[in-house]
This record gives sequence, structure tokens and C-alpha cells, in this order.
Amino acid sequence: MAEIERKEKEIDSSKLFNIRVWEGIQYKFSKDLGIAIKVMSEDGKINTVETNFSEFYQILTSTEKGIRLCEFSIDSIDKESKFVRLYADCVYYCTTTYFYGKKFYIFVGIRDRAADEALVKKLAAEAGVDFKDLYRAYLEQLTFSEAKLINLADLIVDLFNIVIELSVQEYITQMANKQKEEEIAKMSALMEASVIINSTRNLEELLKIIMQSAEKVMQAEASSVFLIDSENNELFFEIATGPKEEEVKKIRLKMGEGIAGWVAYTGEALLVPDVSADPRFAKRVDEQTQFITRSVICVPLKVRNQTIGVVQVLNKIGGASFSKSEIKFLEALASQAAIAIENTNLYEHLEERAEQLNKELKRANVNLSIEKLRIESIVQSMDDGVLAVDRENNIVMLNRVAENTFNVQTADVFGKFVGDFIKIKAIITNFMTVLDAKTTMRNEVMIKMGEREHIFAAVFTPIISQRGEAEGSVAVFRDVTEIKELDKMKSEFLNMVSHELRTPLTPIQAYSELMMVRAVDPEKVKNYADIINKETQRLGALIGDLLDLSRIESGKGLSLMIEEMDFAELLKTVYETYRNASPKHKIILTMPEKSEIIEVDKNKIIQVMTNLLSNAIKYSPEGGEVKIEMTERDKKIFVSVKDRGLGVSKEDIPRIFEKFYRVESDAIKKISGTGIGLPIVKYILELHNGGIEVKSGVNEGSEFIFWLPRIKHK
Ligand code: ADP
Repeated sequence: MAEIERKEKEIDSSKLFNIRVWEGIQYKFSKDLGIAIKVMSEDGKINTVETNFSEFYQILTSTEKGIRLCEFSIDSIDKESKFVRLYADCVYYCTTTYFYGKKFYIFVGIRDRAADEALVKKLAAEAGVDFKDLYRAYLEQLTFSEAKLINLADLIVDLFNIVIELSVQEYITQMANKQKEEEIAKMSALMEASVIINSTRNLEELLKIIMQSAEKVMQAEASSVFLIDSENNELFFEIATGPKEEEVKKIRLKMGEGIAGWVAYTGEALLVPDVSADPRFAKRVDEQTQFITRSVICVPLKVRNQTIGVVQVLNKIGGASFSKSEIKFLEALASQAAIAIENTNLYEHLEERAEQLNKELKRANVNLSIEKLRIESIVQSMDDGVLAVDRENNIVMLNRVAENTFNVQTADVFGKFVGDFIKIKAIITNFMTVLDAKTTMRNEVMIKMGEREHIFAAVFTPIISQRGEAEGSVAVFRDVTEIKELDKMKSEFLNMVSHELRTPLTPIQAYSELMMVRAVDPEKVKNYADIINKETQRLGALIGDLLDLSRIESGKGLSLMIEEMDFAELLKTVYETYRNASPKHKIILTMPEKSEIIEVDKNKIIQVMTNLLSNAIKYSPEGGEVKIEMTERDKKIFVSVKDRGLGVSKEDIPRIFEKFYRVESDAIKKISGTGIGLPIVKYILELHNGGIEVKSGVNEGSEFIFWLPRIKHK
């Protein structure tokens, strides 16, 4: 019984009974044997068309009223006798049988008595048919005893049972096959969906394929996937398939609106067999899209237990409703779709993140290379030499100045041990020391560049990594040779100036004291006074030079008192002053006869001449000729002061015009001087738009030639 009930639930009983097969049997009985059969189920769902081929029946039911006369209902059954007497002497024997819990009435009808003229007359009148015809047909009917009828009815019931059992079996087999096919289709749709999920990353394409397979398997007219827009609390169509795909996509639903909104809100699957009877259905969507929704299955789309949207399938093709088992299938598909969404979201998210990281990395790289370039160019353009080594003291970087200083090329030394190229012990030791001690070190190192020894102030610093380890060290070398020399020169200058000042002071002091304490004869007085005067002049010139230099140095410069004068006259004056200055020397002046008018500051030019002449005398301690020669050429006056003295080496020639510079030879050192005469000479000449040059060699004597612009003789 339980089995029956189960089947009853699953199988629609009205479909159980293969009515056409049974009606065929009824037809055979009626036509060949004149036995009318009718089957009715108690619930009225099954009601076979009674086929009665007896002429009597035909005549009787030829009118509408006659048909009504022949209609019989369950109520008309005489439950006791099981006989239904309907018209004339035609009797229907009624028997019952149960099948799958359903009660069936089976009517078997035959004629079983002699003609009753009055009854037939009454029937003919009621049905509105011709009495004579009906009566003749009535008489021709077979007669059957009731007992035989009961036997016959039993037989027919058996037959019915057999037929019905067979048709049920057939139905079950058919159903089973159909279910199997559906299951297979569902399984393959699910499998297909999972294959697609793994093979495509385009979410829209993916969902579309999933929904198309849902439509196919469930034989639906349309389907859609909604996603929840959590910002607005609305649902939008992510995917819509079917005839109104484009129209549908423009629509958004509020949370809770329509079947989809309801499912999104509740998170529960819903089967609506007829949407017109469901108040939750949103009619506006159909109105907007011109689609007619009849039935819907809608299931939530859940990712990690959270509803992110819904999947919906509409209208079963052919008009039937969706079954509950289809909810399960759609739920399975929805979970596949959810995986797809999650995967693509995840993938897109990862992709986005990767892209973002990539961009950041690129930006950082660009910044880094800009920074590197910036630092490199700073380091390269530094006036100081920079040399960096790694932990093993292999060279990792050196700038151009360092290349010049150490006379190496980066390409040759990169990555190689610093000691292989730089032979200065102090440098190698310092590199090693700062690496070990992790502290900065400063000291001076001497490096030979070309012929000259240069002094470098070097700073060695360890390169400390973020972990606090020494990764290498960097050294910066600043050439301080000039500063050092200047320092040296300054102190020498101070010594010199004090010496130079004292030198004339000593005789001045001595002679003046002598004249004060003793009575000196007038001859000697003049002599002493001459010495004092000469020394005072010397002192004045020296002080004048110092003042000039300080004016030049401070940027004030020297001002010229330009006047027109005969240059030849000027030369003669100077010559006269120095003609007898030194007994060892012979001063010779050579110049053109004619006068040469030029515009100069007379005193300044005398200062130039005095300087050159006194140098010529001073730096030729052995004596000899000092020639002064004046020439004119190219609108210029040239004056040469030539001696046969110590001379100046080729290297020193450009330097003797530098302030405080004095040639460092033993012979020169014996001669007192300050190193400021020639710079002033050069300055004065340049102020006059003139210049000066030197021709000399060691022990070859010197020739100083200066020139001034010439004003043409009128
Ligand atoms: P000072 O003579 O006081 O040292 P100068 O500026 O006049 O300073 O000269 C600079 C240097 O040039 C001198 O120290 C000397 O070495 C060199 N010098 C100048 N004139 C001569 C010269 N006629 N012969 C050789 N050396 C000279």
C-alpha cells in the first residue's frame, strides 16, 4: 500500500490509464459482441466514451435529448443490485475495481428481456425519435441472462485490470526513461558548466553558457541572472537570455520587488507555477518587455553563504509548469554560477592587484632610475673624486674626477680589487679600516698626478645596509693642493713682508741714531741722509705695493690719472734714476729718436718700469748688462727689459704673475722679495689696455716685454 501511495504521489493517476488502448477494447466488444462497456473513476477524472453499436442505441442517441437520456452517473447506480437500468430492457451491470488506490466503476451493458412496446414508445417520445425504427431495432437486440452478464462483467474487469496494469507498467517505464534522460541532461549540463568555469575567465560569457544549458535542460523559454547592487540595494540583469534579452537588461528591480527581488531578499528558492496568481510577481517587467511570464523557478545565487544575486528560469516550453525536482537542478547550476562569479571576481581582483603592483613597481623603478641618474650625475659632476668599493674592496664606482686622479678607466677597474690599481697604501688601509670599524675616517693623502704631487683631503665612510652591516665603503677626495700652497704662501708672505719692512728700517734707525748721538761732519750727514732717504723710498714703495694689492684684491681696483705725455721722456727719467743704482750692472737704454706721445698714468708706468728694472738687477746677482729697449709696431709701443741673470724656468713663467708667487730655487730664496710686484705690473698694464710677456730660461737671463697702445705722433 505504501508503494502504491508513493507511486500515487509521483504519478498523475489520470495518466496511468492508457485510455486509448482501453477504448479500443471497448470498441471491439461493442462492435463485434454488442456489449457496451464504460469505465468511470470515482473522482470523475477517467470517463471512457461508451461505444454502443446497437442500432437501438444509435437511434435513441441520435437526438440531443436521447443522448441525455443515456447519460448515467455514479449516483444512478443501484448500489445493492449493481444493476443500472437505463432505458427499455437494456441493463448495465456495474462492478468496481481498485487500482493504485483509485476506485473504478465498470459498466457492462446488454439487453436482457423481451420487448416492452410501451417502454420503447415512451423512450422514442422522450428522445424525439421514430418509434417504429426504435422498436424494430430493440427487437433485434441480443438478449442475455443476468447471470451471464455478471460472468461477462467479471471477465471484463479482469481484462481491464490486465490492460490497466500493462499501461501502468508502460507508463512507469516511460517515466523512468524520461527521468533518466532528464537526469543525464542535467548531469551533463552541470558537468559542462564546471568545465566552462575552468576554461573561461569572461564572466558574462560564462554565465550565458550556464544559463543557456539551464534553458535547454529545463525546456524554458527564457532565463536570467540578476546580481545585487549593494550600494543601491537593487538587482540588475547581469545576464538575460531569450527573446527579450535586450529590453530586459535595461530594467533594475528593487530589493524584494518581483519574484527575483523576493528570492534575493529571502535567500530561499521559489517555484511559482502561475505568476498571475502570485502577488509577488512584478508585472511592470512584462509590461516593459512585452514578454508574458507564466511560470518561474528562481533560486538564490550564493557566494560563501551570502546572497549575491538570483538565477531565474521562465516558462516551460509547451505551457506545463516546472517541477520541484527542477529547483534542485537550478540550485546546482546556481552554485556553479556562483563559483564562476567568485573565480572571476577573484581572478579579476588578482589581475587588478597584479596590474596595480606592476604599475607601482614600474613607477618605483622609474623613480629609482631617475634617482639613480640624479645621484650619478651629481656624483659625476662633483669636483671631488668619488671612489666606492664593496665588502671585498672591489671597485664598484668611481667618478670622472677619480678616474683622472688615479689615472684609471671605470671599464678597466670595475669589480676589481682596489689595491691592484691604487698603489697608495694609506688609501687601501683606510678602506679596510672603515669597513671593520664602521666609522668615518678623515685624512690627507698625497697622490702624484703627472709630475706634481697633489694633496688630497680624503673622507672614508662605510656604506651601512638597513640591517646594519657594512656593505662597502666610499671615499671622497678633495684636491687641496692649491689651498695648502696658498696657506704656505700666506705664512711665507707674512715672514717676507716683516723681513722686507725690517730691512730698510734697520739702516734708517741706525743712521738716524748715529746723527742724533754724535756730532757728525756735514759730509757724512749728507751721506747718511741719502741712505735714510733711499731706504725710506724703498719702504714707501713696498707699502705702496701692499696697498695697491689690497685695493686690487678687495675689488676696488686702482684708479688711473691719465695724461698725455712723451713716453721717451718717461723712459729717460727712469733710466736716469737707475743708471747708477748698482755698481755691478750696466744699464743700457735703446730707443727711437723721435718723441712718442701716449696717454698713460705716468706714475703707474714708472712703477711698472721700476719694478721690472729692480727685478732685473735683483735677479742677476752676478751683475752684467740690463738692456732697456723701446720699439713701436702695430700701433703699439713695446718695451723690453732684458737681463743676464738667473732666469725663470718654463714651468714657472706663467706663475710668476700670480700674487705671492716666488720661484722656489735656492738662488732666488737668497734674494729678498714679496711676490707682489709682477701681479701689480700686469694689472696696471692691463688697465692701460696693454700686456706683458716673458722670455726666459734657467740661467739664461730674462726678457720682460710689455706693450701699451700708441697714440699716433701728430
Ligand atoms: P719679488 O721680486 O718681490 O719676489 P715679483 O712679483 O716682482 O716679486 O717677482 C715674482 C718672482 O718672479 C720673483 O720672486 C722671481 O722668482 C721671478 N722674477 C721676477 N723677475 C725676475 C727676473 N728678472 N729674473 C728672474 N726671475 C725673476
